[in-house]
Amino acid sequence: MRTENQKINLPILESKRISLFIKREDRIHPFISGNKYRKLKYNTQKAISEKVDTLLTFGGAYSNHIAATACAAQENGLQSVGIIRGEELAFKWRDNPTLATAAGMGMKLKFVPRSIYKNKHTAEFSAYLKSEYNNFYLLPEGGTNDLAVKGCEEILTGGDKDFDIICSSVGTGGTIAGIINATEPEQKVFGFPALKGGFLKEDIRKFVNKDNWELQTDYHFGGYAKVSVELIDFINDFKRSTQVPLDPVYTAKMLFGILDMVNKDSFEPGTKILAIHTGGLQGITGMNSKLKKKNLPLINL
Ligand SMILES: *Cc1c(COP(=O)(O)O)cnc(C)c1O
Repeated sequence: MRTENQKINLPILESKRISLFIKREDRIHPFISGNKYRKLKYNTQKAISEKVDTLLTFGGAYSNHIAATACAAQENGLQSVGIIRGEELAFKWRDNPTLATAAGMGMKLKFVPRSIYKNKHTAEFSAYLKSEYNNFYLLPEGGTNDLAVKGCEEILTGGDKDFDIICSSVGTGGTIAGIINATEPEQKVFGFPALKGGFLKEDIRKFVNKDNWELQTDYHFGGYAKVSVELIDFINDFKRSTQVPLDPVYTAKMLFGILDMVNKDSFEPGTKILAIHTGGLQGITGMNSKLKKKNLPLINL
């Protein structure tokens, strides 16, 4: 599947002579955000070929991966189970748009305390899952594995070879790994981590055999799913001037970073940049309900 590249027109880009396009992977599917769709494609095929009837995975309350897994399972006639971080959600998941929609698509939700969730990869917890749900195909939190990376190698297509720099948001690193594998040696890939921490580089290296990439680590805004008024204003301004909606957890931080780097003359005049819009728009409603409680400005839908 091929998604279109949209040219972004902004005064700052024109004055610095930088060309910026956004690959609209957010439009790949009305509910499965771009990269999660790519990451699930070959995993779902494998589950079906192994005659497994259930996809089982893990995630937090607003997880794009949980939403996408529920949807992919339903579309492929599979069951799904979501192991959700936070016991307290057992009583209020109906008010959470991500979880309510996932449940509406048939996902069985199992809420576990954070202390247990942290140990979800222990033999003990695996044994519990086996006894409870027997025949399932396990997807890791965030969905990254070999087949997920393979799916993300299909994000770039032939026409994208003209770009000098490809930019992607980074969570677990699976998406950028697929992108790196699909680049030409003279292209460069910039990753914008949406969370703090230095472990990502090693995670990415496991899946790639090129070194034409680097991480821009100054744009996490305090950590995973952390936002500021500045970031919210940026999302609303960006949508007003380009018609492109951004999600607050991933793609907004990347675009903020790209434009900040343009402003600081980090790119040579004439550079052609392609930024991947990995989706995540389903999470805006949930983020807005958190912002409302804190009396902060909301993201315009
Ligand atoms: C999950 C996600 C990412 C990060 O993908 P990884 O493969 O985990 O690095 C980026 N953008 C969006 C919108 C996502 O949902």
